[in-house]
Amino acid sequence: MSLNAEIICVGTELLLGEILNTNAQFLCQELSALGVNVFYQTVVGDNPQRLSQAVELAKSRSDVILTTGGLGPTCDDLTKQTLAKCFGLELVFHEESAARIRDYFEHKLHSAKMPENNLQQAMLPQGCTILENDWGTAPGCAFRAQGCHVIMLPGPPGECRPMFLERVVPYLQALSGEVILSRSLRVFGMGESAVEQLFRERMDAMTNPTLAPYAKTGEVELRLTAKAESPQAARALIAPAEAEVRATLGDLVYGADV
Ligand code: ATP
Repeated sequence: MSLNAEIICVGTELLLGEILNTNAQFLCQELSALGVNVFYQTVVGDNPQRLSQAVELAKSRSDVILTTGGLGPTCDDLTKQTLAKCFGLELVFHEESAARIRDYFEHKLHSAKMPENNLQQAMLPQGCTILENDWGTAPGCAFRAQGCHVIMLPGPPGECRPMFLERVVPYLQALSGEVILSRSLRVFGMGESAVEQLFRERMDAMTNPTLAPYAKTGEVELRLTAKAESPQAARALIAPAEAEVRATLGDLVYGADV
């Protein structure tokens, strides 16, 4: 099953150009490596009306909506409230998450007193899957409603990235009932367009694994991505394709997954 995803990054600082939207870049790269299509990305300020409009549009055209930001304890952090409302869900207090937040303050931040408004972060959409946050206070969450999968992640990249890798990847894999595995072959000594020309026909014909070139500084990455029912089966699909790439490029391939 091929999923179409859409990313909505929430935060007025992004619109003011005060920070760069590195979460979107990271998520797009990771989703495409998983074989999930990303057709749209949107940035919205901390404004519930405009966020609702972006969510309604996303709901009409995507299977997966992934948001980042706005899960904090302050009153401008409105992502959960707004998305829950758009999907007709109540926010309910989750005792276990509240205990984790208290524990995070006590043991990681060494702060004796947790501000009461942090408990707002333990209010989560009814029936959601909670994505535990071991890197900060705000838990993420995921739910399915109105034919759409919704996933919410915190804004700080130091939380968003590990949460995506450790919580969202298994969630997406469980959705598709498949394992998605990538192997990255690193090529030095040939430019992207030459590599592309060499493999274009082959790439168009390949479906599983897929092969995609990415231009990097001074090198090209060729990424093979396979979907299968187990990691072993995915590796078995990748192996002959990797051998073919290596046979074509010889020593220009200087490493794999490095
Ligand atoms: P917090 O609990 O820290 O408030 P949050 O989920 O509410 O987390 P935001 O308040 O929206 O997240 O953002 C917190 C910080 O994370 C921002 O000030 C910014 O430094 C960083 N950040 C947020 N969104 C992005 C993004 N899309 N790309 C890069 N950095 C981001």
